[in-house]
Amino acid sequence: MTSSKQASRILVPLLALTVMAGCGNNAQNNNADEAVKAPAAPVSAHQAHWSYEGDTSPEHWAELDELFTACSTGTSQSPVNIVQTQVKEDEALSPVQVKYSPSPVSILNNGHTIQVNLQNQDNTIILEGTAYVLQQFHFHLPSEHEVDGKHAAMELHLVHKSDDGVLAVVGVLITKGADNSELNKLWSVLPSKESEQETAVEGTFDINKLLPADLHSFRYQGSLTTPPCTEGVQWIVLENPVQWSEAQISAFGDIFPHDNRPVQHLGTREIAADQ
Ligand SMILES: [Zn+2]
Repeated sequence: MTSSKQASRILVPLLALTVMAGCGNNAQNNNADEAVKAPAAPVSAHQAHWSYEGDTSPEHWAELDELFTACSTGTSQSPVNIVQTQVKEDEALSPVQVKYSPSPVSILNNGHTIQVNLQNQDNTIILEGTAYVLQQFHFHLPSEHEVDGKHAAMELHLVHKSDDGVLAVVGVLITKGADNSELNKLWSVLPSKESEQETAVEGTFDINKLLPADLHSFRYQGSLTTPPCTEGVQWIVLENPVQWSEAQISAFGDIFPHDNRPVQHLGTREIAADQ
C-alpha cells in the first residue's frame, strides 16, 4: 500500500506514515520539525483518512479534518431519500441528453470504491443546454439514494464537470437481475487491493451500456457524498434502475462490503422530475 514515493521519505515520522498508509491519497511533502512546532495547524494538505466504519465513519467525517466541515454543517447534503409522492413534476426540465461513446478507460481501487477514469474528454451530458464532461465513474453498495425509504443493491455515480467547474452527477440504481456483459470488461480486472496505480482496461468501454433506456430522472441540488462533502452538485438520479447479476454485485461486495453514506436531511429542498 505504501508507494515507493512515500517509502523514500525517510524523514516522515513512522506514526505519520502509518496514518497515511490507509488513506489512498498522495502524501504531502511533510517536514517533521514544522509539524512539531505548529501542532494546532492542519495536520497536512493531505486529506485525513476517512471510511465507512468505526471512528472514521460518516458521522465522524466533519471531526476528521477542518476541510470536511460541510459534512456536518452543510444544509444541502447528499444522498437523500426520494419520496415519490413529494417529487414535483417540472415541465421546464427535459431528460438528460447523454453523448457517450466507447472510450479507453482505466480502473482503480482508491480504498473507498472502485473508480473508472476516462482517458479522454469525449463523453458529455447536456442538461438544460449546458454541457458537462464525464470525469470518472464509481460505485456504492448498497445504493446511497433511497427511493421511498428503500435502498437498491448498488448505485453507479457518473461524475461530470462543466466548463464553469459545476459538478453534475448521474446516479444509476442497480438491482439484482440479468448479467451486464459490458461490465465484465471492468470486472475481469477488478482490483481487490487499494493502490494509487490505475490498471488500463483493454479495448474500449461503452458507458451507454451501464444506463437504462429511459433517462427520466429525479433532480435536486446536493453535495459530494464523500469528504469534503462539497455542495453545489447537481444531482440527476435516474428513475429506472439497471440490472446486474448477483455474481457481479457480490464481486464488488467482496471488496467493499458497504460504502454508502446514509441519507441526509432534505430540509427545504425540493426534488423535481423531468418531463
Ligand atoms: Zn459516489
